Amino acid sequence: MDKEALRRKYLEERDKRLRPDGNDQYVRLTGRFAHYLEDPYTPRTEREPKTDHVTVAVVGGGFAGLVTGARLREAGVGDVRIVEKGGDFGGTWYWNRYPGAQCDTASFVYMPLLEETGHMPTEKYAHAPEILEHCRRIGKHYGLYDDALFHTEVQDLEWDASRSRWTVRTNRGDAFTARFVVMGIGPLHVPKLPGIPGIDDFRGHSFHTSRWDYDYTGGDPTGAPMDRLADKRVAVIGTGATAVQCVPHLARACAELYVFQRTPSSVDVRDNRPTDPAWFAGIAATPGWQQRWLENFTGNQTGGLVDEDLVMDGWTDIARRVRARIAALPPEDLTPEKMAQAYEDSDFEKMEEIRARVDAIVADPRTAAKLKAWYRQLCKRPCFHDEYLQSFNVPGTHLVDTDGKGVERVTRRGVVAGGVEYEVDCVIYASGFEVTTDYTRRAGYELTGRDGLRLTDRWADGMRTLHGIHVHGFPNAFVVQPTQGANLISNIPHNLTEAGRTIATIVSHALDQGFDEVEATREAEDAWIELLLSGPGSILGASADCTPGYYNNEGQDAGMKGRLNIGHPQGAMAYFAYIDGWRTSGTFEGLEFRKHAAGE
Ligand code: NDP
Repeated sequence: MDKEALRRKYLEERDKRLRPDGNDQYVRLTGRFAHYLEDPYTPRTEREPKTDHVTVAVVGGGFAGLVTGARLREAGVGDVRIVEKGGDFGGTWYWNRYPGAQCDTASFVYMPLLEETGHMPTEKYAHAPEILEHCRRIGKHYGLYDDALFHTEVQDLEWDASRSRWTVRTNRGDAFTARFVVMGIGPLHVPKLPGIPGIDDFRGHSFHTSRWDYDYTGGDPTGAPMDRLADKRVAVIGTGATAVQCVPHLARACAELYVFQRTPSSVDVRDNRPTDPAWFAGIAATPGWQQRWLENFTGNQTGGLVDEDLVMDGWTDIARRVRARIAALPPEDLTPEKMAQAYEDSDFEKMEEIRARVDAIVADPRTAAKLKAWYRQLCKRPCFHDEYLQSFNVPGTHLVDTDGKGVERVTRRGVVAGGVEYEVDCVIYASGFEVTTDYTRRAGYELTGRDGLRLTDRWADGMRTLHGIHVHGFPNAFVVQPTQGANLISNIPHNLTEAGRTIATIVSHALDQGFDEVEATREAEDAWIELLLSGPGSILGASADCTPGYYNNEGQDAGMKGRLNIGHPQGAMAYFAYIDGWRTSGTFEGLEFRKHAAGE
C-alpha cells in the first residue's frame, strides 16, 4: 500500500468535486416542484382547528417525537399531542418507502423501545415496512394516537409569558396552547433536488425517492416486483445510501436503468439474516437487554473499552480495527500523532478491502474502476449492501459516471451528463435531504421565545444549547436531536431515547413540584458550549480533506456554525453517563425552575 499515493489520490478526487456553491447547488422542492413533495400514501381528512390546551405539544411523529412521547407517558404525563406533517407516525420511515429501504444499523439497537413493546425484529437489518409498523406499535402502546394531529405542519411556536405557555399555530388553522413544546423534527426530512436546469421541462415521469410513486412503478414497499417498469427506461440521480438500497430493485425491474453517479459510495458487506426466535428469546429474557445492547454498540463504536461486540457488523468493525492497531502500539508510541496514524492506516486498509470487493463483484473492469470510493470511510455515510454492486452485472443496468461533475441538466426527453443526452421515461431523484442548513429553515417554522427572541437569531452564529436539549431564552422548549449531546451518528435513535428520558424527567419534576417554567441559564449553556469546544471537534466537520458531502458542509468551511456541530469531548458514552447522573441527581444543575408570577 503506497500511503502517499493514496493521500494524493484522495485529495485529487476531492478537488474535482469541490464547488463554490456548496449547499446552494441544491434546490427546495417548492413552487413548480411542489408535486414532488405531495404525500402519496395517505389521503388527507378534514377536521376542525384545535384551540384548546395540552400539557406537551410535540412537533414531529418520527422516532424523536415517539420516544419522547412514550417516556412522557411512562412518567405519567397524560396529554401529549404530537403534531405530524405526514399522514401517520413514522417520520423518515413514513416518507421513505422506496423499494429495498431497510435500517443500516442493527435492528436490535436501531429500533427503539423493543423491550417495552415486546417486539422481535424479524431481521438483523429490518426492512422499512416493519420499522413503520413499529412506529405505529409505539404510538398505540403509549396511547399517542389519541390526540395526534396528522397532515399538520407547525407554522409558528410563540412563548406567551403572560401565561407561561406556548401558542402552537399550524397550517390547519390550529392555535392551541401547550405548557411545554418538544421539537423532534429529524435531521433528514426536507428533500432536495440538484439545482440543474430543466428539471421541470422533463415530459416523462419523475419523483424523489422519499415519495416513491408505486402507482407508476408497480410493486409495493414490501418488495413486490415493480411490474410496470418492464418496458421503461429509468434514470436514478445520486448514489448515496438511498440509491444503494433501491438500485438493486430497479435493476431487476427496468428495461434500461441509468445510474448517474457523481461520487461512489463505499459499499461494504451487509450480511443480513433473519432473527432466530430462540436466540432472541434468550437475549430478551434478561430485563434491560436493549439498554445493554445500546451501550455495547455505542461503546464499541466510539472506542470504549468493551470486551464483547454484540452487534458485530461493518459499523463496529471500523472501531474494532482502529482499537486493535492502537492497542498494538508500544507504550512510547501512544502519542496523538501515532494514534492518528494508526487510525489512518486502519482506514486505508479497510478502504482497500472495500475497493477490492468492487473488483471481486463487478464483472466489467471499467465499471468496477468507477465504482471505487477514493476517500476515508467516514468522509461520507458508509454503506453496506450485498446486492448493489451486483446490479451493475445485470444486463440493461448502466453506470453513468460523471467523474465528479454530476448531471448537467434535464431536458424534455431525459438527462444530460458529459454532454450526452440519455433518453428516459422516468427520472428518480435519489438526491438526498437538507442537513446542514439552518434549523428553523429546515423546521419550516419560527420559535419565538422570551421577549420576542427568535431561534433563527439566537442561532444565527450556530446552535447553542445545554446538553443539546435546552436553549436559554426559550423556556419549556426542548430539542430532541444528537448534536451537542452524544452526537452519535451510527445510531441516531440512541441519542433520541436518552433525550426523551431526560425531557420526561424534567417535565414530570416541574409538574410534580408545581413549577410553571423551566429554562436553561445562560451561564450553564455557555459552560456547556465551552466544554464541547475543548474537545477534538466534530467527527463530521473534522474532514476538510474529505470529498464534499453533507458530513463536511459540502467541503465549505461553515465557520463557527460548523465548529458547534459537535458532541461531548469524551465521546458518546461519556455524554450518556454524564446525562444519566445529571438526570438522576434530581438537582438539574443549569436549569432554573420557576413559578408563574400570577400563580397560574
Ligand atoms: P445523499 O445526500 O447521501 O445522496 C445524494 C446523492 O445525490 C449523492 O450521491 C450526490 O452525489 C448525488 N447528487 C447530487 N447532485 C447530483 C448531480 N447534479 N448529479 C449526480 N448526482 C448528484 O442522500 P441519500 O438519500 O442517499 O441519503 C441521505 C442520508 O439518509 C444518508 O446519508 C443516511 O444518513 C440516511 N439514509 C439512511 C438509510 C438507512 O439507515 N437505512 C438509508 C438511506 C438513507 P455526491 O455524493 O457527489 O454529493
